[in-house]
Amino acid sequence: MSASIINGKELAHDIRQNMKEEVSQLIINEGVTPHLTVIIVGDNPASKSYVRGKQKASNETGISSDVIEFPSSITEEKLLQVIQELNKDPKVHGILVQLPLPDHIREEHVIVTIDPAKDVDGFHPMNIGRMMTGEDTFFPCTPYGIITMLKSKNIRIEGKHAVIIGRSNIVGKPVGQLLLNENATVTYCHSRTEKLMDHTTRADIIIAAIGQPNVITMDYLKQGAIVIDVGINRLQDGSLTGDVDFDNVKQKASYLTPVPKGVGPMTITMLLKNTIKAAKGLSKQ
Ligand code: NDP
Repeated sequence: MSASIINGKELAHDIRQNMKEEVSQLIINEGVTPHLTVIIVGDNPASKSYVRGKQKASNETGISSDVIEFPSSITEEKLLQVIQELNKDPKVHGILVQLPLPDHIREEHVIVTIDPAKDVDGFHPMNIGRMMTGEDTFFPCTPYGIITMLKSKNIRIEGKHAVIIGRSNIVGKPVGQLLLNENATVTYCHSRTEKLMDHTTRADIIIAAIGQPNVITMDYLKQGAIVIDVGINRLQDGSLTGDVDFDNVKQKASYLTPVPKGVGPMTITMLLKNTIKAAKGLSKQ
């Protein structure tokens, strides 16, 4: 048996086609063009590449966007002031500050300064809290993309045992919460977990969000498990690979996501979805 591949690039393309129509209706009927402002601090090449991808995807969907660039020497105070001005600007529906930030800027201060109604990354504690209590809100984009991928294949989540490897605030923790909201039974694993395989081999769904290339092999899963590979690891030859040994795991999993063309394109698509939602004023104030 070979796993069915969940192609995030194709799914993202289909969802974005529908979004184009949604955006044009919003423009025609309400006179509102969704607008995303991205702030980038410093010269991190990976961050710059992510920001370019987000801007390109926005523009292709009819969402307008702009990027505000600051040198890494910007003070936290100045950055917070810029965010406060964007909070007040009615033309700006979504604000995204590209992470990571330089060490002298406290990420948590930046995140709480963004108006929760414009927090299209879904990182504000208010929105995290709403997600935890099962309310509709801006869900963090990567976890939201993962749930959307599972649902696109009509994969039953309810009652299933999901094992998350990784507990970061942007991927591991929120994806576990969203799976719990969908009535999965959730186990979190991390670098201090003992006997990782004892947990993963009991999983119906494995989410690998570790950040180490090809560490999850077929030995980590039971026959027919569903495996979502969140990892993006650049190898010495410049190629990208996930946390999952794709060719090996494909022989045992029932569904598997590739890297690239897996979770990555879905993350950006959920950012666009959140921006449209913000423009429609659907989030709580
Ligand atoms: P972090 O580095 O913040 O978190 C990694 C997690 O993996 C930590 O919780 C860590 O445990 C855990 N971990 C590390 N080593 C092991 C191990 N040997 N066994 C078990 N757990 C381990 O990474 P992120 O969550 O931000 O990202 C994870 C990966 O996903 C990265 O490759 C990143 O590039 C990618 N990513 C992809 C996105 C996409 O759109 N496709 C979006 C965001 C991230 P501990 O907490 O104990 O340190």
